[in-house]
Amino acid sequence: MTAILTVVGARPQFVKAAAVSRALAADGRFREAIVHTGQHFDPGMSDVFFDELEIPKPAHALHIHGGGHGDMTGRMMIALEEVALAEKPDWMLIYGDTNSTLAGALVAAKLHIPVAHVEAGLRSFNRRMPEEINRIVSDHVSALLLCPTATAVANLRSEGIVNGVHAVGDVMFDATLFAIAKSRAASGILAELGLAPGGYDVATVHRAESTDDPARLAEIVAWLNERAKQRTLVLPLHPRTRQALARTGIALSGIRVIDPVGYLDMTRLLADCVEVYTDSGGVQKEAYFHRKPCTTLRDETEWVETVEAGWNRLWRQERRQPFAEIADYGKGDAAQRIAAILGDAATT
Ligand code: UDP
Repeated sequence: MTAILTVVGARPQFVKAAAVSRALAADGRFREAIVHTGQHFDPGMSDVFFDELEIPKPAHALHIHGGGHGDMTGRMMIALEEVALAEKPDWMLIYGDTNSTLAGALVAAKLHIPVAHVEAGLRSFNRRMPEEINRIVSDHVSALLLCPTATAVANLRSEGIVNGVHAVGDVMFDATLFAIAKSRAASGILAELGLAPGGYDVATVHRAESTDDPARLAEIVAWLNERAKQRTLVLPLHPRTRQALARTGIALSGIRVIDPVGYLDMTRLLADCVEVYTDSGGVQKEAYFHRKPCTTLRDETEWVETVEAGWNRLWRQERRQPFAEIADYGKGDAAQRIAAILGDAATT
């Protein structure tokens, strides 16, 4: 059996890991232990994802959150090193671009444990984003780079990374397919909020880039307030954004603000909305999976193919491209392909 130590800590990682963990279990060649760093810890941002997406219970919970980037990442590294030394995995499996990703990558690389990075190769080319630093460093110490798109493969090539690079498709598409059927039966969110299918838009805002600069936050809020005059706008509010609004006194107006929702409710909200407004990487793609036009509240995106295919546009871009289909994300078998690659890598 190949031993995998999976590091997760933040909401988008739970969604991605759910798809891959399921595929690892189905493959049968792996023994997976999950470490939850604790970066996202409140039940609505963490437990609900483990329950709804049937993610195996973490073998290790580190309860590390808060503090500056160095503080948080440093504490995670100390704790993860202990776990890695105890577990002695064949692979460290990391996801995306958070501090948990970076901590896992650095710890494993220094212990000579090969790193497999799911969602490798994404770039915004904006190094002021903490996520961009996490991605670049993680990719450069990874042995297996599991890319969701051809653009991600090309980004790695231009940084000199060509070995161990695989275009596998997007595991978030796998997660959406899993959740669609389940959400139809299990989510009562539309009734709860008194919403009719086709009668509302959905927004999310959570990035440090959006919330840390009051001028930027005010611009985003003004933009959303304006949209809410046209159609009901539902905003599951991320704790970081809630805090930033309270700190700055910037006011949302006419928006249906709700607490963050679980993945099945979010899937339901996206499946039945009209339009999506977001600064989230994952939500930009999910808008496409549900074929809903998205506007990204940023000046750049890592998911350039969504813009080229017209389903997404950057907020300062006047017009969207004509709608087209995106082949890169695959057929919902990205996680299965990752399991196959990890299994083959272990036997060579
Ligand atoms: N999401 C959710 N509930 C919410 C908001 C988002 O389930 O209230 C999901 C969303 O559908 C996507 C993931 O969380 O699958 C995205 O996470 P986030 O936007 O926090 O991070 P990013 O994708 O930008 O890394």
